Amino acid sequence: REQDRTALVTGANRGIGLETARRLVVAGLDVVLAARDPARGRDAARTLGSPRVRVEELDVTDAMSVTACAERLADDGVAVDVLVNNAGIYPTDGFFSLDEDTLLRALDVNLMGAFRTCRAFCPGMARRGYGRVVNVSSGLGALTGNVPSPAAYGVSKAALNALTLVVSAAVPQAVKVNAVCPGWVRTDMGGRGAPTSVEQGADTVAWLALLPDSGPTGGFFRDRKRIDW
Ligand code: NDP
Repeated sequence: REQDRTALVTGANRGIGLETARRLVVAGLDVVLAARDPARGRDAARTLGSPRVRVEELDVTDAMSVTACAERLADDGVAVDVLVNNAGIYPTDGFFSLDEDTLLRALDVNLMGAFRTCRAFCPGMARRGYGRVVNVSSGLGALTGNVPSPAAYGVSKAALNALTLVVSAAVPQAVKVNAVCPGWVRTDMGGRGAPTSVEQGADTVAWLALLPDSGPTGGFFRDRKRIDW
């Protein structure tokens, strides 16, 4: 039952992550609002106004931060049933202006962040026989002929899509692992000119987080529909 489930959302102090957290609270889940800066996390949690929200410090680029968060939750008897890998950065450099550090940083947040959290939380899901993992990716990571101009971002999200398939194949069917493109969304990242509201952007993210047992796994979705990798 949704009422008994706990979801953890990374980068949940603003943007699509915060809106996803809001939706999951409304759906009746306990929500761990994970943020690299706990003060920003607490400010964001206050806007949700729910006793079912717990704030945790979690920097996805720091393996120790991820394992420490997982240990605090385990010590408190909190099992993470739903993992939303939302934390992300968007370097805009094209290939010839891209320096190595920028590419490594994009991979560290957008790819390795999800790798670290999946390693921390998916074994528990597999053991308990229930789990949902949602990797917030991007159409710019699709290898379908559209060439992404932000080089590091496109490469990191393509790699996140690959990781989605790898993890989906490594866990039992009861754990559904999917990637989502939220569209071009009006957040700090997407900017004010983006056509999609944050509510609409979070819709498919929350939908995948709440999939029924008959739902898909190993897929890439936008607007609740499967899209090509
Ligand atoms: P925002 O820039 O508004 O928010 C990004 C969030 O990620 C912030 O909470 C930020 O925390 C967090 N974050 C960044 N680095 C880390 C880290 N090392 N550890 C933990 N958290 C971190 O972005 P959006 O809400 O727009 O984007 C959310 C996701 O959606 C991203 O993965 C993005 O790539 C994806 N996406 C967004 C699109 C858009 O148009 N907006 C389009 C396609 C995909 P802090 O506040 O501390 O910086």
